[in-house]
Amino acid sequence: MEYCKYHPLQGASYVCHQCNVHTCQDCNRTEHQSSEARCFVCNDTLSVQGGAFTATPFWKRLNKAFKYPFSGNGFAAIIAATLLSCLGFIMPWFVLLASAFITKYSFTCLQQTAMGQTQAPDIKEAYGGGLLLLIQITGILLIGIASVTVIAIYVGPIAGIAAICFFVLSIPASFILLAMEESFFKAINPLKQLQLMTTIGWPYLFLCLILMIMLGSVEALSFMIDDNMESMSIFLQSAVSNYYSVVMYHLMGYALFQYQDKLGFVAEQDDVTKPDRTDQQLLQANVSVLVKEGDYEKAIKLYRHWLKKNPRDMVISDALFKLITSLKSKQHLTSFADQHLQLLMDNQQEFKLGVSLPQIKLIWPDYKPQQAKVRYQLAKYLFDKGDFPSTAKMLKDFHKAFPNDQQVLPAYKMMVETLEFIPGMDKQAVKFRAVVQKLEQQQPSESRAVKKKISFSTHHADNPPNLSLSPKVEDEEDKPLDYGQIEFTP
Ligand SMILES: [Zn+2]
Ligand SMILES: [Zn+2]
Repeated sequence: MEYCKYHPLQGASYVCHQCNVHTCQDCNRTEHQSSEARCFVCNDTLSVQGGAFTATPFWKRLNKAFKYPFSGNGFAAIIAATLLSCLGFIMPWFVLLASAFITKYSFTCLQQTAMGQTQAPDIKEAYGGGLLLLIQITGILLIGIASVTVIAIYVGPIAGIAAICFFVLSIPASFILLAMEESFFKAINPLKQLQLMTTIGWPYLFLCLILMIMLGSVEALSFMIDDNMESMSIFLQSAVSNYYSVVMYHLMGYALFQYQDKLGFVAEQDDVTKPDRTDQQLLQANVSVLVKEGDYEKAIKLYRHWLKKNPRDMVISDALFKLITSLKSKQHLTSFADQHLQLLMDNQQEFKLGVSLPQIKLIWPDYKPQQAKVRYQLAKYLFDKGDFPSTAKMLKDFHKAFPNDQQVLPAYKMMVETLEFIPGMDKQAVKFRAVVQKLEQQQPSESRAVKKKISFSTHHADNPPNLSLSPKVEDEEDKPLDYGQIEFTP
């Protein structure tokens, strides 16, 4: 059994011959139920990985087949069926119940083994539907016997012997058909039976031989068990026959598993293995594979491409942020941090914001948003949080970063408020207040040009409202406003 390269506990459903990699049902690109599965890495068409690729032939794992009833709930089911049949002493119809129970359980063993399960199924699987199976099995056997009789009488003795041989050989085939197709009419259809037998080929005969030996040994064992202790003997006989029943059906199921691609069961499994995924889930599966392949650039590219189309997608934005920060990629952070923080703020994700900002600073210690709006909003967030030193740092040199931006005035208004909260910053607060006043005076008169230039750089003759110089120019006698000082406040 091969396992998915990216999910070591998942059985492989596909194989990429280009990459020489096995993948599970999630690790492939299948946009629609009908579309072909493609490799996430090389985009080549994937081959369906049938059990036949890697399955050990059933005759080479007989020892495992005998151990099978002791896995999962197998042993419990056998004991339960045996106790039920012992209760038949008191109430005879319990024998029927026991048969129905173990029959249903055995059929489930066949079905689940055929699907590649190596553990005996849950005992609950045997709770219902056993009686119908018993009736169907009886029906199959009765119809078989009747057909053989009719052929022997009306066609002739040689044809009758041939019919008996076919009937005996077809019993496992009809049980397999009944279990897998869940159709009584398919199970009694001799053409279907023949098709199944010839598809498996000679190993089918071998399977019949093994099953007959097992049936024979059940008989032999019941002869060997002493008749002296009658109740004990019934218990043992019943337990042994239940045990063999589970083993036999498991073997039939395994034969089916081994030849699944030939028998066309892969196609059925195929429907199950194409999960109905949203585009977002597909993207995440794709990225997950690329990340495990170490192709981070391609993973980031896919995420960014998605975010271009779906800029409000928090889930993907979070995922990309996580990827970039775990890669400690300052380069990618430069182009993504603003966008992500903006989205967090727009969605009022304060908790995530509180976590994300320190993560950015770990990689990029002097990070400040590159966009005026984001930087202002982030400062506001820090201010509301009561983190005034960080607010001041965020607002520092705002006009230098965004010389002609409308956000400068509100930013410095906030700076004034911030400085009032920081002890020893009174002087700076006064200076910023003056700057704010100047900006306010300036705004209405130049309302049309406000957007383009609040004229930090425009030198007017008398009193140049040059903010970058204003502290120096205006307060020549004072020390120039030392933004650096803000950083040393507690
Ligand atoms: Zn996988
Ligand atoms: Zn590939």
